[in-house]
Amino acid sequence: YREELKKLRDLPAETRDGAKKVELSANIGTPKDVKGALENGAEGIGLYRTEFLYMDRENLPDEEEQFQAYKQVVEAMNPRPVIIRTLDIGGDKRLPCLDMPEELNPFLGWRAIRMCLDTPQILKVQLKAILRASHYGNVKIMYPMISSLAEIRKANAILEEAKNELRQQGIPFDENLEVGIMVEIPSVAVTADILAREVDFFSIGTNDLIQYTLAVDRMNEKIAHLYEPFHPAVLRLIKNVIDASHRAGKWTGMCGEMAGDPLAAPILLGMGLDEFSMSATSISQVKKVIRSLTYEQAKQIAAKALEMESPEEIKKMLHEVLEEIK
Ligand code: PEP
Ligand code: MG
Repeated sequence: YREELKKLRDLPAETRDGAKKVELSANIGTPKDVKGALENGAEGIGLYRTEFLYMDRENLPDEEEQFQAYKQVVEAMNPRPVIIRTLDIGGDKRLPCLDMPEELNPFLGWRAIRMCLDTPQILKVQLKAILRASHYGNVKIMYPMISSLAEIRKANAILEEAKNELRQQGIPFDENLEVGIMVEIPSVAVTADILAREVDFFSIGTNDLIQYTLAVDRMNEKIAHLYEPFHPAVLRLIKNVIDASHRAGKWTGMCGEMAGDPLAAPILLGMGLDEFSMSATSISQVKKVIRSLTYEQAKQIAAKALEMESPEEIKKMLHEVLEEIK
């Protein structure tokens, strides 16, 4: 079985009939993770969590240090795409190098892009480092925890400042680099058609999207049984995001845990998801499922799931699908 998965590594992630090809990418946290991504056949980095650069230290990383880390990843992956997510701190992640207030509801509080827009100097330093790295390969920028059009515009205004400063300094960067957002807040998923106009792509962060949609803390063991990726509400939100992006001529990926679940693959494929980003070790299993189905089959499975009334019913159908293609 392991041998079979290994052989899969160099095959494309396309349906059995060749009608739909998707991109299978890896999530990483540090440059050291690139090796595993490539060994498992990742076609890109769909989520580079940059928080680790900022953690466990007394002062913020400067532009040069960040640039070196990003460049290392970008060069090693070149020409494959690398989606670098701007600082997503707060929630359960606190930084000793930043004065962060105690909050009653940290997951609903001052986190990620909200914090970055309030401390634009921190964001600008990071954006300059990312832009500089973009000269060395295929880089895309992604903002976390976006909740409105206004936030995208504010972040992009800081990005423009960063670009202008680099131009004045004569430092090269990719002028055509794509900018996208994570969809991890239900209000954004519902209004995806509006936000699609301001972005090049979406990446669905199901870890947070599920917790906010179902009002279930993703860290709380006691209610873990209520944390349900196959809840009809979650599936409908995902479908809405993919459809809205396609109508606007944009693409949608997914970088939450759900993207690496073989059980979810038939539905996500059938809904038209364009990119799946996951922990590198899940890539071959998901690829196996994708290559076993025709696009028409996947579409029918997705359509059926979207009509069903409970997660149990949906998962039962999916287990039967996986059993058949085993
Ligand atoms: C997510 O919320 O799905 C996600 C990928 O971001 P993180 O897990 O880093 O919050
Ligand atoms: Mg998240």
